Amino acid sequence: MQQQQDVVIGLEVHVQLTSLKTKLFCSCPSDYRGKPPNTHTCPVCLGLPGSLPVVNKKAIEFAVMAALALNCQVSERAVFFRKNYFYVDMSKNFQISMYDRAGGTPIGRGGYVDIDVDGTRKRVRISRIQLEEDPARLVHLGPIELSPYTLVDYNRAGIALLEIVTEPDLSSPKEARIFLQKLRSILEHCGIFDGSLEGSMRCDANISLAGGARVEIKNITSFKEVERALSFEIARQRELLKRGQQVRRETRHWDEDRRMTFTLRVKEEEHDYRYFPEPDLVPIVITEDFIERVRSMMPELPDHRAERFMREYGLPEYDARVLTSEKALADFFEACVKLYPSPKKVSNWLMTDTMRVLNEYNLDWSSIKMEPEHLAELLKLMDDGVISIKIAKLLIFDVVLKGIPPSKLVEEKGMKRIVDENYLSQLIEKIFREFPKAVQDALKDEKAVHFLVGQVMRHTKGRADPALTNELIRRKLNELQRSS
Ligand code: ZN
Ligand code: MN
Repeated sequence: MQQQQDVVIGLEVHVQLTSLKTKLFCSCPSDYRGKPPNTHTCPVCLGLPGSLPVVNKKAIEFAVMAALALNCQVSERAVFFRKNYFYVDMSKNFQISMYDRAGGTPIGRGGYVDIDVDGTRKRVRISRIQLEEDPARLVHLGPIELSPYTLVDYNRAGIALLEIVTEPDLSSPKEARIFLQKLRSILEHCGIFDGSLEGSMRCDANISLAGGARVEIKNITSFKEVERALSFEIARQRELLKRGQQVRRETRHWDEDRRMTFTLRVKEEEHDYRYFPEPDLVPIVITEDFIERVRSMMPELPDHRAERFMREYGLPEYDARVLTSEKALADFFEACVKLYPSPKKVSNWLMTDTMRVLNEYNLDWSSIKMEPEHLAELLKLMDDGVISIKIAKLLIFDVVLKGIPPSKLVEEKGMKRIVDENYLSQLIEKIFREFPKAVQDALKDEKAVHFLVGQVMRHTKGRADPALTNELIRRKLNELQRSS
């Protein structure tokens, strides 16, 4: 990453408060996913004239909790503003948001998140965190700029969003990904957010290279995408600068499918939004008492949880950090250790074997079908000698992807370890006849014995008991030695 020291990245993250039951300014249900379009709507979130917004108090509580969790200073007063713009995703032609100028204050300011990049801690400053309403969802046919029409679904309009803005403290696409991952874990631990829901975390990124203008990338929908989008943009801007061309200050759109950015519009100026205080809502006074009440409800956050994992389970720091990088993963680990109290072993099987399956199928933790009971059972089957480690590493695919209990898989697939001496002896007999050269070698060279063991394993698909196989082969070689 040394060559990227000239890269400056700041993020603007939009996170839905998915634990809320209703929208930010009306009582429409917030679980819009998979619902028929435009059914979770009312005069308020459709922006009909004469309708009046009412602030969801729980949203203020959640926003304050997020601000505290991100080490922000919580404002005593939060004022909603109108951010004016003309676009179909906001039928009122303005978005009710917060503003940090002209008498406006966001919910929180001046916070930070510590991230771990290649074993080093780095502090990413949070400049502000504010509440606003989500616009409607626009549905396009194919790529946005080729779509013959745009469909609008107002079910999402008015969903409570947190806008979290960082200082330009990030210096690589990887750091941006790690930051978002950490942010997600923190908010999930707060119990206000579920990052596994599609589109619940979206991100715009500002990026500039030394000597170039700042470019904003919109429409990044996950932390995997953020890394890709920023890498693409760095390459694009570097190429321009290398050829002596200018990087234009503009807003670009990230196309997930084609994995490239393209110009959306030349950057608008902030004053274009004509911010002014929302006259239909009174300023929100956030008392010290309220803040203390929220603080007292604050659950354990990822950094503390990682420290506890090291203390309580004796895990290395690396394991503790990886396991707490996602709440569901940390929860799984703790549930599994209760059933199989060997923390390091559980951690290894989660961090290597389970992750390998997920990576191979390009899935994330939320799509895992394995239960803590399943992993505990798999480890016990190995301890009891019912299956070998090799078989366990095979079985875990079906356990992770389909949620089939390992004991059932062993039964169904006949994967029990073979300890039948007769059967193995006969098989070895056959292999000795098949590979006379290898047998001759094995009489002189220890290494050639492995080849013969390997053949037995191949024939039994890894089910032969390794110790017994070794013993039987050696016994047979000794017999040959004596008879010659
Ligand atoms: Zn509504
Ligand atoms: Mn926003």
